[in-house]
Amino acid sequence: KSSAAIIQARNLTVKRGRAELLHGIDLDIPAGSLTAVVGANGAGKTTLIQALAGVVPPPRGRVVIGDLDPGRASPREIASRIGFVFQNPEHQFIAHTVFDELAHGLRLRRVPDAEIAKRVGEMLRRFGLEHKAEVHPFLLSGGEKRRLSVGTALITRPGVLALDEPTFGQDRARADELLRLLADLRADGTTVLIVTHDLQLVADHATHTVILAEGRVHASGPTAELFAADGLFESAGLRL
Ligand code: ATP
Repeated sequence: KSSAAIIQARNLTVKRGRAELLHGIDLDIPAGSLTAVVGANGAGKTTLIQALAGVVPPPRGRVVIGDLDPGRASPREIASRIGFVFQNPEHQFIAHTVFDELAHGLRLRRVPDAEIAKRVGEMLRRFGLEHKAEVHPFLLSGGEKRRLSVGTALITRPGVLALDEPTFGQDRARADELLRLLADLRADGTTVLIVTHDLQLVADHATHTVILAEGRVHASGPTAELFAADGLFESAGLRL
């Protein structure tokens, strides 16, 4: 029936200092899905996708991405399985030009220059940044920064793309543009995982939804089933 899980979490527990933020999460993210993580402020959404993506130090419990345990893998190995886009994409820019930003992950892997030029060129075209290759990333518009951060996460061709609040602070047109992009990625076989506060976006675009409440999975499953159930979002402190 449903497709296999590309990310599996078992008894995932995350502590920060003395505070335990996630309490034994069990979760399967279906391969090929667009899965949305929702929950009230402070429910642990950001903590969860960062733990799943190996962005934060190894949590307790077990996470598997494809065949990889991110707690035991190098950042480079993780980045070839899952790309991560922070809520504020500027925070991850490190290069002085758009081209170098996109090329960075490939240079780390010692990809030959000719191949880098080809793959970066493809990314620039795909994200409408051809004329910005030599521009400093900080000088891009908000939408361009977002597209660059997605391109950077995708340049190593990971099977999963995780985005924290990708439409936050954007108008409808720009949010829709991003959603079209995510739909294209899914059509190419990429699994997409997002954190969002926008339940309309979830209803319209997410195939699967995880509702978090106070560091626990309140409910998860196909989006339509969760919306059809009575009061599931409300009992997690969300308003439909
Ligand atoms: P929001 O919707 O407000 O972005 P969220 O669901 O993404 O929230 P997280 O950012 O994952 O929630 O945070 C979960 C909880 O953990 C919050 O109460 C937060 O204040 C707390 N928290 C985050 N980092 C730390 C830390 N380093 N030490 C202690 N508590 C922390």
